[in-house]
Amino acid sequence: MSNMPESPALEPERGVYANRTLNLRSVRAIGYDMDYTLIHYRSDEWEHAAFRHACRVLDAGGYPVHDVTFDPDYLQGLVIDLDRGNLIKATRFGYVIQAQHGTRQLSFDELRSTYAGVAVDLADPRYRFMNTMFTISEAALYAQLVDRLDAGIIPGPLGYDELYRVVSAALDESHTTGALKAEIVADPDRFCDLDPDTAQTLIDQRLAGKRLLLITNSDWTYTRAMMSYAFDRYVPSGSWRDLFDIVVVAAAKPRFFSQNEPAFRVVDPERALLQPHHGPFETGEVYHGGCAQHVEQSMQLTGDEILYVGDHLFGDVHVTKSALRWRTALIMRELEAEIADAAKFAPQESQLRRLMADKVELEDRLAYARLARLRRIEGDDTGPTSVESLESLREALRALDERIAPLARAAGELGSATWGPLMRAGNDKSLFARQVEKYADVYTSRVSNLGRRTPFAFLRAARTSLPHDIVPIERAPEHAPEQLEPDQ
Ligand SMILES: [Mg+2]
Repeated sequence: MSNMPESPALEPERGVYANRTLNLRSVRAIGYDMDYTLIHYRSDEWEHAAFRHACRVLDAGGYPVHDVTFDPDYLQGLVIDLDRGNLIKATRFGYVIQAQHGTRQLSFDELRSTYAGVAVDLADPRYRFMNTMFTISEAALYAQLVDRLDAGIIPGPLGYDELYRVVSAALDESHTTGALKAEIVADPDRFCDLDPDTAQTLIDQRLAGKRLLLITNSDWTYTRAMMSYAFDRYVPSGSWRDLFDIVVVAAAKPRFFSQNEPAFRVVDPERALLQPHHGPFETGEVYHGGCAQHVEQSMQLTGDEILYVGDHLFGDVHVTKSALRWRTALIMRELEAEIADAAKFAPQESQLRRLMADKVELEDRLAYARLARLRRIEGDDTGPTSVESLESLREALRALDERIAPLARAAGELGSATWGPLMRAGNDKSLFARQVEKYADVYTSRVSNLGRRTPFAFLRAARTSLPHDIVPIERAPEHAPEQLEPDQ
């Protein structure tokens, strides 16, 4: 545990990034999600375990899963196209830039013929947005079963959408039945990646007068075991319970944020005995269910005084923002690798920008030269007397493209080797990034990053960029476009 606060050098991977300015001083209560927020899981281990459990469920249902294997190279932020059995990556406008059918990547021509004119609308039931880490096993399993359905190994008739429901139900079953959770509780070191600074972050927030809540969908037995494992050793009193004013388990988010559900009080922590609860939530107690409005009323706070911190784009931040106007922070651990990769790639990135600027200039010169040639053929001699050679301009463009191609390819392979970065899709922001900017006031890789900024930080949104912004391109002389001989 760190002792005296100091202003640390803030490396970009551990930054807190604001879409909308958030002054932590005006936040009076902070609610935390547990899974993948306060407790980070090694997602390969967890997802692999969930995958195995789901396969057992499917095997019992007669599905041919004996030879499927877990492939962790899927990203959250992809979309499943239930009409076609495809996994797709889309830009912020919903344009599909990459797709695979089953486990096979579509070629450029297939992609164009399938998705030209399609804009993915997440409200359309045709699409399933993979918006948590828990969807990695789902994508891995679904893709392989699509292959088997196409090969006629799965007895039909069964559509790609029905197949998805089968896979999804098997995974839900593995998450809700006790076997997977028992496996994790029995060997938490294998599944959890503990961050000792998380407890200090919460302790500091309490010192600064903020009230803390744990609001998790997990049940009491699992929550208690995991929170005790992850926090008791870092809390001076030895009990994680002292970090929180109110604990809500089995919260049933996102319904918790949008509906008025009854609350129960956990009256016997050992046996998880419940009693219906009326009246305000009281400090020091554990509740089962209930709703966010009840939290607001109990603490006599308004939505903009409460910050909710979670990793689930829909369940934790989307509904929270639209139904209640709570302030929201999204935790996304993948950001650390994504930023580190981008930092390593920075020299190539600036070279790529320079080459692209050169390309724009060459393309303009080519366009002018073509027009001038047309006018000359028509006998108009009012234009420029010296016209660049079309052939040399085209040749220069070809040479430039050859230098751009490997850099552009490398930029698209940052992050997942198959799917590229989470927040970008080609040159654009990804559909996932668009959801993040819409619903998360701030986003960061882990809870302790909030601690590094202190409970008093003013998290200021950066000035956003627009296509007409003036961005100086730093040009090294050797990259200036060559002067070409005029057309003789
Ligand atoms: Mg979570």
